[in-house]
Amino acid sequence: MNQNIVELFKANQIKNTTQRHRVIEYLIKCKEPVTAESIYIALFEDDAYEDKVNLSTVYRILDLFVKQSIVLRNSFGNEHKSTYEFNRREHKHHLICVKCNKVTSIKGCPLKAYEQDLGNQTHFKILEHRLEIFGVCPSCQERGN
Ligand SMILES: [Zn+2]
Ligand SMILES: [Zn+2]
Repeated sequence: MNQNIVELFKANQIKNTTQRHRVIEYLIKCKEPVTAESIYIALFEDDAYEDKVNLSTVYRILDLFVKQSIVLRNSFGNEHKSTYEFNRREHKHHLICVKCNKVTSIKGCPLKAYEQDLGNQTHFKILEHRLEIFGVCPSCQERGN
């Protein structure tokens, strides 16, 4: 048991179970957002445990994490292609492949100065913004998509 995770669960009123523990541990290790299915394949598909976990269990665990804001869900159109990432509490943007739905995080934020200008011009108190950039990733281009 990872003590940081035990604390994280406690702080968010989430009961610590082996499955939940494994899912969040996996998400913390992931550098990029992942789908529920890939979490299932990585952790539970070849599971030797008696009480086999199925994909809908993974969805239920993720729903709980999203509700408690320890995990972020990124939905880009197709519900089944939603990706999940551990909420590192940092401001972030994504680059999304429209062919394979691969999600890549963009380093830094290009809109900081623009936000400030806009605030000055409009006298809005700007709170946040969202920006997603869509394209075709290198491997999909290679495959001739
Ligand atoms: Zn792609
Ligand atoms: Zn930004």
